Amino acid sequence: MDQYFVVGNPIKQSKSPVIHHLFAEQTKQSLNYDKKLIDDDDFEQAISRFKKANVKGVNVTAPFKERAFNLCDELSEFAAKAGAVNTLIIEEGKIKGDNTDGVGLVNDLLNHQVSLSGQRILILGAGGAAKGVVAPILDHQPSQLIIANRTLKRAQDIANQYPNKAIDVLTFDELANVSVDLIINATSAGLNGQSLPIPPSIITPSVICYDMTYGKELTPFLTFASQAGCEKLIDGLGMLVGQAAQSFYLWRGVMPQVKDVIDKLRAQM
Ligand code: NDP
Repeated sequence: MDQYFVVGNPIKQSKSPVIHHLFAEQTKQSLNYDKKLIDDDDFEQAISRFKKANVKGVNVTAPFKERAFNLCDELSEFAAKAGAVNTLIIEEGKIKGDNTDGVGLVNDLLNHQVSLSGQRILILGAGGAAKGVVAPILDHQPSQLIIANRTLKRAQDIANQYPNKAIDVLTFDELANVSVDLIINATSAGLNGQSLPIPPSIITPSVICYDMTYGKELTPFLTFASQAGCEKLIDGLGMLVGQAAQSFYLWRGVMPQVKDVIDKLRAQM
């Protein structure tokens, strides 16, 4: 049976095995998918062992996405732009790297009837997740894209990857006089119970707030947005399932339906 893995450190929390087995059941594909904790000094060797063992594909999560990028023989356009890889496709001894986070995010937004085209979009954060979503967002031609980050240089580095696009780079303080249609939280602040120092004035009832983080309860960012008057709040569970669906498609050539899987995971939280 074809074997797949998700690797990271930590990895215990990963829902990817559950998601991929639900996709396999839904699309009548025969495969096995496990999670594996990888030591920091063992990532490259672990992938090499997978290759020798005829593993067909690997999902890569924090903190290895940049190292995965470096060991690919071939890269998709999104992975090359992102400088980070979350999906390895292993075929005939060669490793192809892709980044499906952005497609997962964009599809989830579209599934929530949130359009990107012609909209003013603000991304909070400039880590691996932010890097992965910029190219697919730009493909939808927003009227403005702003990246705000605590460490300004990381946001500037992302903007520099797109020399032909006007991406604005701001500090959180500079957001006080900014007006946008959609805010995407791509920071990990909430995971650590920290709040983001963003001015509440940026949130109005018509702004849509999306948090890549998700949980049983409203996330800290979405709680803040709700208290500041935001009426449309979306968490990142749909993105998680959407990026997995795109990986599944790259491996198996079949695109699974995400809605039932999102509903099942939500019910299990
Ligand atoms: P990284 O560690 O690469 O980046 C973290 C980002 O958060 C950086 O921009 C960092 O700023 C910022 N940050 C962290 N703490 C604070 C704080 N207290 N105040 C302000 N900024 C802060 O993480 P990732 O990019 O890989 O992941 C980010 C989030 O996205 C995580 O919560 C992750 O779980 C989620 N995610 C969700 C996915 C999904 O499918 N739903 C997919 C991928 C990620 P600085 O640069 O200054 O350090």
